[in-house]
Amino acid sequence: MNVHEYQAKELMASFGVPVPKGGLAETPEQAVEIAQQLGSEICVVKAQIHAGGRGKGGGVKVCKSLDEVKAAAEAILGMHLVTHQTGPEGKLVQKVWVEEGTDIARELYAAVVLDRGAERLAVMASPSGGMDIEKVAEQTPELIFSTRLEPGQPIWDFQCRQLLFGCGLDAAQVRQGTAMIQALVKMAMAKDATLVEINPLAVTGEGKLIALDGKINFDDSALRRNPDIAALK
Ligand code: ADP
Ligand code: MG
Repeated sequence: MNVHEYQAKELMASFGVPVPKGGLAETPEQAVEIAQQLGSEICVVKAQIHAGGRGKGGGVKVCKSLDEVKAAAEAILGMHLVTHQTGPEGKLVQKVWVEEGTDIARELYAAVVLDRGAERLAVMASPSGGMDIEKVAEQTPELIFSTRLEPGQPIWDFQCRQLLFGCGLDAAQVRQGTAMIQALVKMAMAKDATLVEINPLAVTGEGKLIALDGKINFDDSALRRNPDIAALK
């Protein structure tokens, strides 16, 4: 089962992963109200569909005023958003997530994925995050670092350090990133996720780490023991 970005972010936040503050809107008026409440100089209006590549398809708009928020929500709500993951017919956008704009210094990539071949969870990280991780995997695979977990074991600090120093983070950021990855692994195990992907995992101008996007796939066969997840459908 797939969930929307806002649902993924709420779940990640409940495990202690830093995410931007935001709110869900079904009308342009609601979007403006949320932006007002956030009180952030820059807000981002984001289409909520079960597909990635929204930024390139025009489904993510950075806004510098309430008028821009209104215009962005008007443009995105009701559109059939076409991305490389939707097929040519696109997906109807019924909700937008309005969140605080983040001052992005760098965009990294992080993921927890069930490696079925190895029968283990794997954790991956890359200094080359942003929109096109598939291209990175194809063209510069040396920029993707990965580690596998022993069954029933958590991810150890040294594994996180290997991934995060590989991403060129400094010691303080590696400490933050370690807590973040450990929270993501804990969440994946607790909720039977088969994929948790943060792209981008941003480093802010102040040097803090924050999850700007979130994609989670859950194991359908395990939904019976995760009624909270099943309820997100
Ligand atoms: P998608 O992966 O579907 O294109 P993202 O959530 O990753 O959607 O957004 C696309 C891009 O928009 C990100 O790579 C980032 O550069 C920018 N972005 C997303 N959220 C924010 C935010 N809160 N603040 C600033 N920029 C953002
Ligand atoms: Mg993304």
